Amino acid sequence: MFKKNVLLALCSSVALAACGGGGSDSSSDKSDGPLYEDETPTTTGYTDGQLITASEALRARVDECIDTSNVGFRSTHFEVFSIDDASTNEDLKAAATVAEAGLKSIQEMLVVHDDEIVGTQGKELISVCLRTEDPNNSFTGHSGTGFKDGLVINAPRAGDFSLDLENSTSQLLRHELVHVIQIRIVYGLEAGTHGGFDTDKWYSEGLAQLIAGQEVSTNATEIDAYLAAITAGTETAAPAIRTHQDHVDSNGRYRDYALAVHYLFTPSKYGANNPLSDGAELWRKLGEEIDFGATDPFASAFSKVFVNDRQKLTPLTQQQYSTNFVSWMTEFRTDAWADGNVTGTNAQNVDMVFVMEEGVELLAGRMKADGDVSSQNFEVLLTRLDPSKAYDVYFLDVVSESGGTMEVEYYGPLKGYASYEAHALQANGPGGGTTFDITNAKVTKATVED
Ligand SMILES: [Zn+2]
Repeated sequence: MFKKNVLLALCSSVALAACGGGGSDSSSDKSDGPLYEDETPTTTGYTDGQLITASEALRARVDECIDTSNVGFRSTHFEVFSIDDASTNEDLKAAATVAEAGLKSIQEMLVVHDDEIVGTQGKELISVCLRTEDPNNSFTGHSGTGFKDGLVINAPRAGDFSLDLENSTSQLLRHELVHVIQIRIVYGLEAGTHGGFDTDKWYSEGLAQLIAGQEVSTNATEIDAYLAAITAGTETAAPAIRTHQDHVDSNGRYRDYALAVHYLFTPSKYGANNPLSDGAELWRKLGEEIDFGATDPFASAFSKVFVNDRQKLTPLTQQQYSTNFVSWMTEFRTDAWADGNVTGTNAQNVDMVFVMEEGVELLAGRMKADGDVSSQNFEVLLTRLDPSKAYDVYFLDVVSESGGTMEVEYYGPLKGYASYEAHALQANGPGGGTTFDITNAKVTKATVED
């Protein structure tokens, strides 16, 4: 039976799929699904820990919280405080709970061990400072900073945090947490307190964005406009955005950086096919290069870690990626999504489509604009599927929704086959059409807790 967290996890278990997931609306750009490994979110209970006073803190608090914050919450890996004690104890605990779940999922995705990022002394705990949004300075809206000591984010209000993977405050916390992990791996745990790190912004921001479940560019029209601007010389290709000075945040470029990072890890003929664990391997290698005194540590580490499988496993250099960015992204964005069609009784009520393998959710497709009353079009991220396998395809109808509970019916499984040649998810075996008829499919009713 589907539970809501399972539905959310559909997007996450495929670490790099850009998932639609949410509802019936659209082929619009709603593809910024979470990459987050869903650790059975709970709405009751907090992570283990204890309330502490400021003087009991094991580590220096992040600047903004020093001297203004008297009560904190310490969990296994974190100490959470808020500026001027603006957050309630409940908020501190909730932030720690989200931080612990986020850390665990990031570690699992990137294969990062505890001793690389928090050590064994307790003094390396990660500080979290919850900051009151201040319209008189630049800290407005959802903004945050991650550095070696920990992170600061705008989020002191009651109820800001939840384990809902699409909760934007929680996504922000995970994003900053990726930066903390990155800096600690590159520079080690012992020296320094902050460790500024602002080189190769496209990679650090793109990976943080991707891992946090924030927006990744997948809208073909927008990507085309971006690529055209690069060709015209009015935008810089993402892999050439190396320093803060290179970065001009016009039109939210982080999602384009995330696209560039996404390509590195997409395992198909359309992607470079590196394991996601190489995301952290680059930081380890970068740390070595910095110790070694390489003149361009990032470029050196990059070419030692990444390959481009489309070029038969040859090393990929940052320069190559910048040079070929437009042509590779053109194909990547064009070929990533494949159309399908669901037809039959009740097809017009289908709200979501899921592709599963042996009971494991691989990815969520997205519904496109409604067709006629007896069929609907959808699309799935073909690059996530192996053309040699058969998959179970489910179609889900949200029958009603009230008070945090959804009544759903799902149809399936129907067999689906990925074909790169036909650029399609085929319903009737290799060579078959792309129409999935649910008229005679098994129907299962389920109640989904919100
Ligand atoms: Zn960032």
